[in-house]
Parts: sequence; structure tokens; C-alpha cells
Amino acid sequence: LKRIAVLTSGGDAPGMNAAIRAVVRSGIYYNLEVFGVYRGYAGLIQGDITPLNEGAVGDIIHRGGTFLYSARCPEFLEEAGQRKAVTELRKHQIDGLVVIGGDGTFRGAQRLTDLGFPTIGIPGTIDNDIPGTDFTIGFDTAINTVIEAIDRIRDTASSHERTYVVEVMGRDAGDIALWSGLADGAESILIPEVSFRMEEMIARLKRGYERGKKHSIILVAEGVGRGMEIGDRIKEETGFETRVTVLGHVQRGGKPTALDRVLASRMGAKAVELLIAGEHDKMVAIRNNELIGIDFDQAFEQDHQPDLSMYELAGILSI
Ligand code: ADP
Repeated sequence: LKRIAVLTSGGDAPGMNAAIRAVVRSGIYYNLEVFGVYRGYAGLIQGDITPLNEGAVGDIIHRGGTFLYSARCPEFLEEAGQRKAVTELRKHQIDGLVVIGGDGTFRGAQRLTDLGFPTIGIPGTIDNDIPGTDFTIGFDTAINTVIEAIDRIRDTASSHERTYVVEVMGRDAGDIALWSGLADGAESILIPEVSFRMEEMIARLKRGYERGKKHSIILVAEGVGRGMEIGDRIKEETGFETRVTVLGHVQRGGKPTALDRVLASRMGAKAVELLIAGEHDKMVAIRNNELIGIDFDQAFEQDHQPDLSMYELAGILSI
């Protein structure tokens, strides 16, 4: 192994820059030449590839987003596109690739490995929805952004005795809603993995009101339904003054937290070590604070599941 490349693909996440930096610097430490690919698989197909030295990744560890840019690339879904990508890599005499992204990115990585090109994945997505790893890069920053927003909403909620519905990201995974709801003492947390009964939530709200609660926060993962509709239902059934906030893309941006920077640094270095060890078709994962490489297939085998004991705990603590 002499030359490796790194790219970021799919939805961006805070901490991706720290992961790129770790791939570049640990690669150089192990006497490899490291290249950066711009705009994910799109740049790979076009051969938009540039050498990165130690200095090229200076002053980025604390920045959100990804300086290599990210993109979605329909052309790469076809085998012709995948072959073009491998041709470009070979043209640059690159013999190993690290891809940072979510499950779509990893499915693309598997195709590269099928074509004989060793590829290792690093999970970077705010949703924490990749099975096989306890955490993904960007999740901690996202939940910190959410709780900061909810803290502010709570101030105004308690001043005005209102019920607030806050819609957060998570089409298929409830981790953002669950973790930030627990961290912020939300009265109810609605996540796609647990079937949700409106009547129960309304009853809970009324119970809280009867025992003197002045305000309530309901956290909704977008996969469950529109916050606006849920807010309307609550207003109809309770008569409580209800406001809805949709946090949207603010959750994707911002400076990565210390935890995300550390995770990204460790995962970046681990990806390089796996390539050096001759591994391919693997994703870097963290389990019980240990970094491991697991087969992509194994990662996709099961669905991602949030920790439902946390869901129960949130229910107990918010009575
Ligand atoms: P994420 O990695 O965040 O899940 P996407 O699902 O958009 O983001 O995937 C990023 C890119 O990975 C896609 O634009 C496409 O180029 C590639 N990709 C996704 N799914 C596949 C697949 N099944 N086969 C090959 N490439 C894929």
C-alpha cells in the first residue's frame, strides 16, 4: 500500500473534517501518500483528486461540514459509473480508499470492493442510524445543537405557559429525538421505532397540567409525522396554547463537539490501519469505546435500533 485517497459523501456531518485530517495525518505517519477526492463519488468519477499534505488539513479540526465537499451521485449507482471511478483511482496509482458517509455511501463502497478496489468506510451522519456502531460522527454535535435550541424554547415556554412541539431530524431513526429529549426532560418523545398513541400523549399532557406543570415540550422525530399536525391535534384536544418549531438544517451544521472530534480522529486513524492491514469491505465502528472493523454486510444485517431502555427512562423521569 503506497497511496490512499479519502472522500466524503451523502449528507454532511460535523466532524467529517476532523476525520479527513486524521486519515491524512495518520496516513503520512505510516509513510503513505494521501489524496483527497472532491464531492464524493461525483468527483471520483470525474477524477477530481488532489494530493493532501499535513498542512492541507491544518485549521479544519474545529470546522463543521466538509472541506472536500459532499454530493449525491446518481451516475455512481450504475456499474459503468463505478468502473469509471476505479479507472480514475488506478490512473492516480491509488490503492486504497476511505469513504466517510452514511449507509448509501457504504453500499457504493461495497461496489468498489466488488470491482477489486479495497475500500473502508467511516460512519459520518448526524442521525446515528448505522447499525453495528454505537455512535456515528456528527451525532453528538447534532444533539447538542438540539438541546441548546430546546433550552431557549423552554425559557419562553415557561414564561408564557405554553406547550411546545419541536420537530427534529430522523426519518427512520429516533436517536436524535430520544437523546435530546432525555437530555432536556421533554414531556413526550415521539420516535419512529415506538408506535405512538396520540391519546396517551394527550392524557399525559393533561395529567401534567393538572398537577401544576406550566409548560411542556414534545419532541417529534420527523419520521413520525409533521410537528405542525401534531401541534394542531394537541391544541384541538387540550385547548392549551401550542407552538411548533421545526429545527431543520441547523442540526446538520456547527462546530463539532469534543466528543465528535475525538471519535472522528480515532476512526480516521483506524480506517488507515485497516487498509494497511490489508482489510477491505469494512466499516470502522465503535463499540464499548473500542474501535473495530466490521464487514459492511454485518453492519447492514440488522436494522438500527435505539436503546429502548432510554425511552422508558425518559418516560419515568418526565412524569
Ligand atoms: P448517505 O451516505 O448519507 O446515506 P446517500 O444515500 O445519498 O447518502 O448515498 C451517497 C451516494 O452513495 C449516492 O449519491 C450514490 O452515489 C452512492 N450510493 C448510494 N446507494 C448506492 C448503491 N446501492 N450502490 C452504489 N452506490 C450507491
